[in-house]
Amino acid sequence: MFRTHQRSDFRGGITVCGIFGYVGGKSAAKEIVQGLQALTYRGYDSAGVAVQNDYGTQIKKGVGAISEIAGVASLRGKVGVGHTRWATHGEVSVNNAHPFSYGGYTVVHNGIIENYAELKRELTAKGYVFQSQTDSEVIVMLLHFYREYPLLTALRKTVERLTGSYAIVALSDRDKGSIVCTRKNSPLIIGLGKEETFISSDVPALYGKAYQYTPLNEGDFVWVHMGGISFYHGETEVFPKLYSVNENASCHEKRGYAHFMRKEIGEVPNAVNNTLTLLRGQEIALKRVFSNATRVLLTGCGTAFHAAVFGKYLLSRALKIPTQAEVASELRYSGEKVEKSCVCIAITQSGETADTLRLLQSLKKQGHKKLIVITNTPRSSVTAFADITLLTGAGPEIGVAATKSFTSQLAAFTFIVQALSGERGEFITLPKLLTKTLQLESETKEIARELQGQKSVFFLGRDLDYPLALEGSLKLKEVSYLFSDGYAAGELKHGTLALIEKGTPVIVCLTQPRLAEKTLNALHEVSCRGAKVFLITQYEKYSGVLGVEKCLLLPPSSPHLAPLLLSVPLQFLAYHTAVLMGRNPDRPRNLAKSVTVE
Ligand code: GLU
Repeated sequence: MFRTHQRSDFRGGITVCGIFGYVGGKSAAKEIVQGLQALTYRGYDSAGVAVQNDYGTQIKKGVGAISEIAGVASLRGKVGVGHTRWATHGEVSVNNAHPFSYGGYTVVHNGIIENYAELKRELTAKGYVFQSQTDSEVIVMLLHFYREYPLLTALRKTVERLTGSYAIVALSDRDKGSIVCTRKNSPLIIGLGKEETFISSDVPALYGKAYQYTPLNEGDFVWVHMGGISFYHGETEVFPKLYSVNENASCHEKRGYAHFMRKEIGEVPNAVNNTLTLLRGQEIALKRVFSNATRVLLTGCGTAFHAAVFGKYLLSRALKIPTQAEVASELRYSGEKVEKSCVCIAITQSGETADTLRLLQSLKKQGHKKLIVITNTPRSSVTAFADITLLTGAGPEIGVAATKSFTSQLAAFTFIVQALSGERGEFITLPKLLTKTLQLESETKEIARELQGQKSVFFLGRDLDYPLALEGSLKLKEVSYLFSDGYAAGELKHGTLALIEKGTPVIVCLTQPRLAEKTLNALHEVSCRGAKVFLITQYEKYSGVLGVEKCLLLPPSSPHLAPLLLSVPLQFLAYHTAVLMGRNPDRPRNLAKSVTVE
């Protein structure tokens, strides 16, 4: 037994798309609400809390984020679990909100149960009556079905029946004071406090609560109970390594800013500085993995995919070998043969993105030894498959839209290229340049005024500016809900030019002098068709180009560094447009920060 609690009256609790659980001496409801608040970035379609006491388990749940659910504070008890949902199966409704309960069993789930329809048919035939449309409810029914077994055994038997991904936390009124949990392809972490235990989807939710934590491995089962915790891998008892929770509570406070997104854009220079410090010392390992490489394949999802496209341009030029960037969810099922001499670079802020994780897992299984992961989260699931983990130092990012983590991913690629070429020095100036770039905020606000309420917005760029155009557009879409699209500047004339009409805003990104004239061609093509052109460049000479409505001038810098600077005004642009349009940029509708389902 892995004993962490001495007090005999110790009670346990749990955490769950965001899961948070608690077992201890305090009010479980209060602890869980605080935990879920820190996890809200993972989903906020609905939320719920279950608290157990001597009389049984009571649940309060509803639509919206945890702060909007009435009656949670009235739940009395020292053991409980909460969930903040990002719906995958079943509409956003109270009935589909977690926790689910049946016959004294209570469950929260993060992930997707792929065989739920089949299980639902089987359980319905046995007389179980379902209350929700979710895939998750089968879990609580299965637990009840195995009720002749102790709770942990019932959980083992339940997950034997499941395919898909899950982090599950369960409690039962037959076994009061205990919480059991397990995971497969969805994260779950146990946090140890003073005579109390937390279960959480991520480490930052443990700040100010736990002193130590341990991430669960795939196939681990944990029983948190009065007086202790027992860890098992399958059925074998194990004694996991504990890590200290390095508190960085300031990341979870807005510190006077109206939104986390704004605060985090301001943290870009620090994030990049920390990233470059963290990466120092990886040069030899990188050279080893790249030696004899015949190809580089880069992958990621959403913003991380845009960082992959940026890496593709940088690496193909530096290495002169075929280099390709593919969306992880496509690559995973494309059947493409990835030969052993191919370096595969996966980018994921959270380290838990399911599409990226599955891909790496299968490459690792095939014996690949050239897998590089760029992530912002130490010890996240993806690191288990990496031959080299390159940690970005952005720190916890609370805003759902990636900002400081994206610029840090670009910095990681700048580092890789410099490490491989043996060149030094250039990026030492980056944090300072980024700090200077922050001064463009009020000018981006002026452009944001022109974007608000528009039908569509286009972002153009070539070469290293192309992934920035893609990201600038994604950011704007995510937080303002305006339709926007990013294009390779040479591509617009092959179709999308038809959408340009009088007054359509077009943001032109121009930091690459080699292709400046070509990018200016695209600028003229849209401006002579009535587009309102906003240019972002570090070259003053282009600011007066015919057709430019307004030019944002980046601090003078080399073409390698300028795209990183460019990321900052693009982030500000999205942020201020969202705010002007009355959106909450920290909580874009339908989105969750870390997408742990495929
Ligand atoms: N698939 C489950 C649902 O739609 C869980 C989603 C989640 O991880 O929040 O309820």
